[in-house]
Order: sequence, then structure tokens, then C-alpha cells
Amino acid sequence: MNAIRTDAIVIGAGPVGLYQAFQLGLQEVRVHVVDALPYAGGQCTALYPTKPIYDLPGIVACDGASLTERLLRQLQPLQVPLHLGQVVTQLQRRADTANGGAAPPGDPRFRLQTSAGLVFECDAIVIAAGAGAFLPRKVPLVDLSPWEGDQVRYDEVSPEVWAGHNVVVLGGTASAAECALQIAEGGAAHVTLVHRTDRFDIDAALDERLQSAIGAGWIRLALGQPIGAIAGDDGRLQALEIATADDQRRAVPLDLLLPRLGLSPQLGPIAEWGLALQRKHLPVDTERFATSEPGIFAVGDVNTYPGKRKLIVCGFHEATLAAFAVAQWLRPNERIVLEYTTTSTRLQRLLGVA
Ligand code: FAD
Repeated sequence: MNAIRTDAIVIGAGPVGLYQAFQLGLQEVRVHVVDALPYAGGQCTALYPTKPIYDLPGIVACDGASLTERLLRQLQPLQVPLHLGQVVTQLQRRADTANGGAAPPGDPRFRLQTSAGLVFECDAIVIAAGAGAFLPRKVPLVDLSPWEGDQVRYDEVSPEVWAGHNVVVLGGTASAAECALQIAEGGAAHVTLVHRTDRFDIDAALDERLQSAIGAGWIRLALGQPIGAIAGDDGRLQALEIATADDQRRAVPLDLLLPRLGLSPQLGPIAEWGLALQRKHLPVDTERFATSEPGIFAVGDVNTYPGKRKLIVCGFHEATLAAFAVAQWLRPNERIVLEYTTTSTRLQRLLGVA
């Protein structure tokens, strides 16, 4: 696949990553954003989409989903490509730039690769990775790795994958309930929902739909915790073994297992890129938000400095100053001046309002 050549990459489309892209756009830095989640908004969308935030400047109350929607709308005129549902896994630098030396003119300093196979070549990176990439929680205690990607799918699956099959959905989350309902309504042979109790961590409307599907027999409920995987002679996964509350073992037969146990953030690859780390955070200075490596900056929950507070408004401030620093890094001979959006026709043209 051909590499995408750009000025900068923002890793993370949480609130701070989105605002970082906006500020870089105002600096006329060409930027792409990548996120592990299939949607933008980071913690705001993944953890509290409907909970109001009361401490955003000038906004009395705004829930996580609305804040994300506003940030995306603000970013829209700058036409920044978002690449969602993929983790930035690899970072390579040109060997001759590793200690801060300049890359030859026109040659990219960094090469990044994602889990979906995209390759970016760029000269600056802003890490806005929060507590790490939000990835599906793996099934604890049971090694399902031989079947992952085939009979065990943590990702979204299309109807042709499950149609006519015996599907087991595992978990008590909203995504487990929605997944079981979607498949039950869409024509799997059988859908079994495995959860440790008959209570689900979901809103009342979804619970009502789920309970009526269970009552009508479209979804079978199996109560218990996974303790093993049962394979056939052909090596195929045949059943999930669960332990019930009264210490019985039970095999739940399946063709396809869809664990939906929620998301957990994993700093993962970023921790292996040789950047200085302090308790899983990236130390930065508070003028440029530069990490230990020239050309790599860090903003939002992922960074640390004396007095750091993990608040959205602090991340927005960091992103603003980091954008000036990135522009200066990319254009070392230029004076990067401050302009107001209220009075600068250059900025207003970029935003499509002049
Ligand atoms: P995040 O929102 O964590 O986003 C980081 C993104 O980076 C994620 O989407 C992740 O998938 C992605 N990512 C990480 N690594 C990779 C990788 N290698 N490849 C691709 N993608 C990657 N703050 C306030 O100011 N006010 C509040 O009222 C408030 N309420 C909160 C309530 C709750 C319940 C929680 C949990 C937090 C709250 N916060 C609040 C904190 C606020 O949500 C965080 O400070 C904010 O989300 C940080 O934004 P971020 O963009 O730095 O990181």
C-alpha cells in the first residue's frame, strides 16, 4: 500500500486529539487523525456519552456525545481525514534523525503504520492517546487465541458472518445486548447470551427489548462465567465451557463466539517506541508539549508535567500551544505569529466564514 505523505499525524480522536487537529489546521499544517475506536470522541463517547459535563468554558452543560459532535462540526471546514477503527502500531524513524538531526529536505522523518495496514509518512507526531487505545476486553481465564479472528470475533461482524449460525454473545454490556438483539432479529440459527447474572448494565429501554426477546425465546440466556474452551477433533471451537452460580459446569455449543465485555485502554505500542515515560505517561515541557524525542509532542491525558490535571479544558490549552510548536518545528525559518479568529481573514478563509 502507498504511504500517505502528510505534515503531521495526531494519534487519538478524543476531545483533545480533535481539538489538536483543529488548531493544527489553523496553522495550515496538513494533518491526519487516527483512532482505535470506530467513532471519534475518546472517553467522552466511549465512557459517558449521555452524562453532562459542567465545566467547559462558556457551555453550561453538554454531554460527552454532544461535545464530540461540536468538535467534529468545528473541525469540518478544515477537512481533516479521520482514520477510525485502527491502532497506530509501529513507529519508524529515519536512522539519521534519531538524535534530533534534520531529515534531508522533502524526506519524511517518521513512518507510522496502523493495524489496518495504513502507512503514514510525516515530520511531526502529536500523541493524544489518553490512557491508551480503547480495545475490546479479552475473555479472562480462557485462552481463545487459536480461534481469534475466525470463530472468536471481538470486532464488528457483518450479517454474512453470523447468518444461519449458532452464535454465542458474551457479556452484560449494552454492546452485548445490542449485538444479541441484532443477530436474533437478523437470522442466526440460535443466539445465546452468556452473562454471570440475569441483570444487565444497560438502560431501561434496551433492557425491555432484551427481556422480551428472551421471553419470546429468540435469545437464550445462559448464566455463568467462562472457564474453558472445548475444541473438536478438527481443532474447531465447539463450545464455551461456563461455571454456573451453583458450581456446575456447562458447555454452551457454538459456531461463533462474540465477546462483548466492554473496552479497556491500553497504552500498548506507544510504550514501546523508546519515548521517556513516567508511570505510563509521557513527560513534556509546558511551552511546546514536546516529548523526549524531537518532532513528537503529547497532549491531553497521556502527558505529564508538574501540576498536570486531567481535564478537557487543560487538554485544549495544551493542544493550542502544541500547534504553535508543531508549526514552528515544521517551518523553522518562519515567525509563527498569533492571529485572532475574530479579525484574521486568513483564519476566517480557512474556516469558510470569510
Ligand atoms: P481520550 O479521551 O482518552 O482519547 C484518547 C483516544 O486515543 C482514545 O479514543 C483511544 O482509542 C485513542 N488511542 C490511544 N492510543 C492509540 C493508538 N496507539 N492508536 C490509535 N488510537 C489510539 N473532564 C472534564 O474536564 N470535565 C468532566 O466533567 C469530566 N468528566 C468525566 C467523566 C468520566 C466518567 C470520565 C471517565 C472522564 C471525565 N473527564 C472529564 C475526563 C476527560 O474525559 C478526559 O480528560 C478527556 O477525555 C481526555 O481527552 P484525550 O483526548 O486526552 O484522551
